[in-house]
Amino acid sequence: MKHTAKLKTGHPYISTTNACKLCKPLGACIAFRGIEGTMPFLHGSQGCATYMRRYIISHFREPIDIASSSLSEKHAVYGGGSNLKLGLNNSIDKYAPNAVGVATTCLTETIGDDVSMLLREWRVDADAECPNPEIPVVNVSTASYSGTHMEGFHAVVRETIAQIALTDVPIPESGNEDIKIGTKPLNLMPGFVSTADLRHLRDVCEDFGLEPTILPDYSDTLDAPVMAEYEKLTSGGTSLQSIRKMPRAIASIEFGRVLSACGQTGGELLQEKADVPLYAMGMPIGVRESDRFFNTLSRLSDRPIPRRHELERGRLLDAYADGHKYLFGKRAIVYGEEDLVVGLTAFLSEIGVQPILCASGGSSGYLKDAIAAVTDGLLREAPQVRDDVDFFDIAQDALSLKPDFLIGNSKGYSFAREQGIPLIRVGFPIHDRMGGQRILHLGYRGSQNLFDLTVNAIIAKKQRDSPVGYGYI
Ligand code: SF4
Repeated sequence: MKHTAKLKTGHPYISTTNACKLCKPLGACIAFRGIEGTMPFLHGSQGCATYMRRYIISHFREPIDIASSSLSEKHAVYGGGSNLKLGLNNSIDKYAPNAVGVATTCLTETIGDDVSMLLREWRVDADAECPNPEIPVVNVSTASYSGTHMEGFHAVVRETIAQIALTDVPIPESGNEDIKIGTKPLNLMPGFVSTADLRHLRDVCEDFGLEPTILPDYSDTLDAPVMAEYEKLTSGGTSLQSIRKMPRAIASIEFGRVLSACGQTGGELLQEKADVPLYAMGMPIGVRESDRFFNTLSRLSDRPIPRRHELERGRLLDAYADGHKYLFGKRAIVYGEEDLVVGLTAFLSEIGVQPILCASGGSSGYLKDAIAAVTDGLLREAPQVRDDVDFFDIAQDALSLKPDFLIGNSKGYSFAREQGIPLIRVGFPIHDRMGGQRILHLGYRGSQNLFDLTVNAIIAKKQRDSPVGYGYI
């Protein structure tokens, strides 16, 4: 991507060194596992599916099956249609899923397979071969060379709404049985957050008397309790029934200040086709961004912010004051997915830390403006903002910027170790710690968690560096 050097032949070459983004269909597979009983199916080679499984398992520490059309050299020449159809029949036979989510890979995008057409052909022929020919199949186009895992993730949200919620399948008229009396249905599309974040968001919405359909919700499927019996597709996830009711919600809330780079979003689609009002906002990290979320819930529910959340907000402010002496003037490098970087930068700016570099492998073109919006009035000096970078770029910049700590996923570990500075692990992937999938980032409670992690990392570094050590600091 960025590193141009001369080969012995004299020709320049460009390389990416340790990318700060992941493969587009990988994001799609995670999102598909947030839909109840859905089998992720990669139209491509087995190698792609194996890489994605390995990556997802190392963070979530849960098994995840990803089916594949298992293409070989022959299919790269003649097209992968026959394997796609056979693979769908086999997956439906072996796993008995409620739905299948088909994502393309670099290979199938390059050979130009028309997956929508292939699926239409498969439907026509399915009766003879397929055990469940009526099964919903959502398909997304996810060429990895044209985007990041986040774009794959958001594509699944949008296409699930387009292909399930907004199709002609009738919404059950008496279908409010799963909405509790006195509650209002709300659509919540939080983007790629942790399983703990998903659970917390549900609790917060319910505390306002709102009944959220969270799309996707992998809080159970990718963070499951121990099972007495093996389940081929772990239970949990957003049900197809609640997805079909999304056009009837009182509103949609969507997190992501750079989301519009992914084209039309699920929330925009619901607004356009079903008149569901959309509230778009950044990830609620830090007081200011969380206030926006809580105030929106209060307006939608017509209820004041519940006492326990007011108390959490108050405790967070109290912690900000208590910990200020440790953090004031500290310099941080923030990296990862663009929307997470924006949320973390908002939070760091509030707590007296100067973000000196905000970096992402994404390339929406919106990162700089989003950072400016969330730091408005909080920083004396605007941070450097770099998108479309890899870890080589980040480390090169970091050498001269001399940060006090890094905040981002596990992939910053080598640089943090080399420089002897703390790495505060957040986001995805976290391969080298337990519980990465359960880190709470969102709302007042998530901000409190991040605040404690940050202050304690600074204190631990001070203790480590001190020749005498401090027991009381
Ligand atoms: S070939 Fe493309 S789709 Fe497959 S793992 Fe690599 S980046 Fe992802």
